[in-house]
Amino acid sequence: MSIADELLATNQEFVRNFKLGELSVRPKRRVAVLACMDSRILFEHCLGLKPGDAHMIRNAGGIATEDALRSLIVSHHLLDTQEFIIINHTDCGLLKVQVYELRSKLAEKMGFVASDPAHFYAFDDLETNVRQQMQRVKSHPWIPKHIPVRGFVYDVKTGKLSEVKEGR
Ligand SMILES: [Zn+2]
Repeated sequence: MSIADELLATNQEFVRNFKLGELSVRPKRRVAVLACMDSRILFEHCLGLKPGDAHMIRNAGGIATEDALRSLIVSHHLLDTQEFIIINHTDCGLLKVQVYELRSKLAEKMGFVASDPAHFYAFDDLETNVRQQMQRVKSHPWIPKHIPVRGFVYDVKTGKLSEVKEGR
C-alpha cells in the first residue's frame, strides 16, 4: 500500500465525521500566513487557527516567491485578508545550503543540468531572510501599504515564535 492509499483510507474516516461544509471561502480571521513547508510544524496548531480562519501559504523556506506573492495578492484582493504573517524556523532545510553545490549534486544525480527552478532561495541567516521576505511582500505595488506584514522565527526545539523586527 502506498502512502497515498493510507491517506485515502484516513480520508474515508474524515468524511464520516465531516462538519466543515458550510465554512466561507473568506478566512474568518482575515489573516494570511506565509511559512516554510517543514513537516514538524503544523502552523494551525501553533497559532491556534481552525479551518476557515486563515490562508496558509507554504513553500520550502517560507519565501516570498512570485507564486507566494500571487497567493497573497489573491488572499487580500479577492478574499479580504487584512494582515500578513511570515514565518521561518530554526533548523530549516534551506539554511546554510550552498546553491551551487546543490545544483551540481542534482546534475550529477540526474545526469543532466536543468535551468528550472531559477532560484532555490537558500539562506545563511534566519532573521535576515525573514526581513527580506517582509520587504518583498511590502514592496509589491499591489500589496497596499496599510496591510501589516509581520515576521517571525519559529524554534523547532521549543515551539516558540520570536518576532523579527524590521531592519532598515
Ligand atoms: Zn524550513
